[in-house]
Amino acid sequence: MFGAARKWIYPASIDGKFQRIHRGIGRSLIAFLLIAPWVRIGGAPILLADLMTRQVHVGGLVFTPRETVLLLTVILASGLLLFLVTSLWGRLWCGYACPQTVLMEELVRRIERWIEGERGAQIRLAEARLDATKLRKRLTKWALYLLLAAGIAFSFSGFFVDLYSMLRGASPAGAYVFAGALTFVLFLDFAWFREQFCHYLCPYARLQSVLTDEHTVNIGYDFRRGEPRKPRGMKLSDLDGVEVGACIDCNRCVAVCPSGIDIRDGFQLECIACARCVDACIEVMDRLGQPTLVKYASLAELEGRPRRRFGVRPAIYAVALVGVSIAFTVTLLSRAPFDVTIAQDPHTAESALDDGGVRNLFQVTVHNKSREPATFAISVTLDGAELVIPGAGASGEAQQVSVEGAGHRVVPAFVTLPSAADAPPITPFEFVVREGDTEVRHRATFRNHQRTGSK
Ligand code: SF4
Ligand code: SF4
Repeated sequence: MFGAARKWIYPASIDGKFQRIHRGIGRSLIAFLLIAPWVRIGGAPILLADLMTRQVHVGGLVFTPRETVLLLTVILASGLLLFLVTSLWGRLWCGYACPQTVLMEELVRRIERWIEGERGAQIRLAEARLDATKLRKRLTKWALYLLLAAGIAFSFSGFFVDLYSMLRGASPAGAYVFAGALTFVLFLDFAWFREQFCHYLCPYARLQSVLTDEHTVNIGYDFRRGEPRKPRGMKLSDLDGVEVGACIDCNRCVAVCPSGIDIRDGFQLECIACARCVDACIEVMDRLGQPTLVKYASLAELEGRPRRRFGVRPAIYAVALVGVSIAFTVTLLSRAPFDVTIAQDPHTAESALDDGGVRNLFQVTVHNKSREPATFAISVTLDGAELVIPGAGASGEAQQVSVEGAGHRVVPAFVTLPSAADAPPITPFEFVVREGDTEVRHRATFRNHQRTGSK
């Protein structure tokens, strides 16, 4: 698939209004990638999916593993938004925001041009025999790619582990292995794989046929105005009265394409909608005093038919997106400031006491989602039972457990009934955890197989 038949692509430089938009978005995203993992607001990371604590931090809010439903609604909403945008305006994501495109266009190809020169110089260097100059340029370029890959991999790791800990060498080995593996993968991508990622690996590219239709705005060639092309280099006087279209076959739209395709051949899966060919044709046609032949347009428009603005498919995506967004907002606004999980190992949880009582052992985890330390009062709803949490303070029947801000604490909880003979084999009850005005209840089961002798 990626073998000897690969045609290397050397896209020419291009500027224009779409490239300026591309640059603005691309540089903002790169700045976010490099800066965000270092930023703390009130001591809290602005975006961190902490693999160690299994907590997600977003803009000062802390989400616990029990709030996976919120994460799922965010993923679902992002997917629906992508589907909606794609059905209306095609591959805007690929052209302007996909990390592969942004890194290739804003960093990798710029380094390449800086070291090896423009398209023509790159082609000449590729065709030249290996000498000291070629070796020096290639090694310099690869060394810079490696530095770039390491920087991006390290920074990206900061969305999953604390970068300050990583710098001190205090993170688990897995964090360094992940950063090293990502460096290797990125280096391979920058130095060799490149556009093949979009052509062969990206699943989103393959979804285009089901997400778009003839009314989707894509980058296309106005073949009704452009064809038949005027053969390159031929003067109008040489055409002997033959009618020709506006395309002068200058090949500029092909030369700037990072996917190595000719947009005049129609919509192709390889097109990442980067609009470089649009800026190229605007540049050429401006000189001829004509509007561009390559532009954002739907297939229907290119064929001279009216474009439908909003069809059934985008409407379905929009309705689903609104529904998921409402569900997310309601869940977010009604979330408690702390979370509780209860675990019990059925094989070690139960023990008979010498005085005839029976004791169950539970593991209670309290996630404090606020940034301030808090003390939680834990009690049980089991009649006649005594709750003991070693190391916890007592207040009436409740045990007091303190947890640091944005932290969690795991404590053993012993629940004892005084008479095994009087308690049924299985008794459902609840752990009640209170902090301020908020109360969270968690169901649990008290086991007493002493009575029946069964296990
Ligand atoms: S055809 Fe145009 S929009 Fe598509 S990848 Fe090539 S330059 Fe970008
Ligand atoms: S840049 Fe425009 S004029 Fe030149 S080949 Fe492409 S479509 Fe034709």
